[in-house]
Amino acid sequence: MTQTQTVAFSKNSTNIFFHILTTCNLKCRHCYINPAQHGKDTLPLPTIKAWLEAFSKNSNSKNLILLGGEPTLHPELAAAVKHARGLGFASITIDTNGYLFGDILAKVTPAEVDYFSFSLDGATRETNDQIRGAGSYETCLEGIRRTIDRGFATSLIYTISSANIHELEMMVPLLDSLGVDRFFIQVIGLRGKSAVAQDGSDSPESPQVSRTQWLAVVPGVARKIAQHGISVTYPKVFLNSDEKFECAGTVADNYFVFPNGRVYRCPLCEDFPIHSLCFQENQLVPTAKLNEQDFFQLDIPEGCVMNKMIQPYHISYGEEGVPEYKIACCLLKEEINGG
Ligand code: SF4
Ligand code: SF4
Repeated sequence: MTQTQTVAFSKNSTNIFFHILTTCNLKCRHCYINPAQHGKDTLPLPTIKAWLEAFSKNSNSKNLILLGGEPTLHPELAAAVKHARGLGFASITIDTNGYLFGDILAKVTPAEVDYFSFSLDGATRETNDQIRGAGSYETCLEGIRRTIDRGFATSLIYTISSANIHELEMMVPLLDSLGVDRFFIQVIGLRGKSAVAQDGSDSPESPQVSRTQWLAVVPGVARKIAQHGISVTYPKVFLNSDEKFECAGTVADNYFVFPNGRVYRCPLCEDFPIHSLCFQENQLVPTAKLNEQDFFQLDIPEGCVMNKMIQPYHISYGEEGVPEYKIACCLLKEEINGG
């Protein structure tokens, strides 16, 4: 039996999504890294340590997700992990495309890294490699196997687009055979490369899926995967009129940190210079208004105000001009455990 629950936002835990560099060996079609907004620096280890220390003063339980670009390209990744562990972070995750550079598996231990989180965007080589590049499918699967062999826990992230939604169901046997612990389904958003020349149509060229496609496929496949004992998380995306809307920017404690020192509270804001915090001389300080915090306060019938501004065609209206549904915060997740 499986059980689906919406993961409530909490101010009692802090999640730090720390991009320690923006360099990557791949060129995925939907990459959300935007060097013009996020910088091109590889952060030196002393800076990483200082920024981690700035967050460690926070009294909450703290979770660290190390990202890039490709974080295993950072020559000091293992040292950054060990420093974070020493600072008392409750969990540490490394997000990777699977190439696992720098012999990282030999330099950290399962006691230091809670999860290696891999990205795969197709159940077949053909589909994944069209999105993420030639050879990335085999490399990712091989990386997962090596990581599990070394005793680490693993996650897999699948970003749904019109190019791969038809293969989501095929992930059930693949996940089973790999032995992955957690499966995260994401939805392609209008950030980074995906933000260029999109109109939200269901044309084969549009990477975005419609509400109908999403609801027809994702919740059902997620339940099937959970029946195999894998924890599954996916974004709620659409709220019914009787469901309460909340903006994580006002009710959660998330930080999205970039190498140029920008710190956002909302991922949908990352393509714009509206970050509400930044690092100055290794101190985390608020930025001047207007910034993302001013948008979080706006109460609109469509739900998420950033979604309304950057992808308004995701919302349908009735005859009275009333939205037929609300768009949930992109950070609101459904979690299914079972098996
Ligand atoms: S692996 Fe990640 S950072 Fe690298 S190109 Fe792909 S989406 Fe971008
Ligand atoms: S995605 Fe929307 S609702 Fe969520 S934090 Fe950003 S602005 Fe707020």
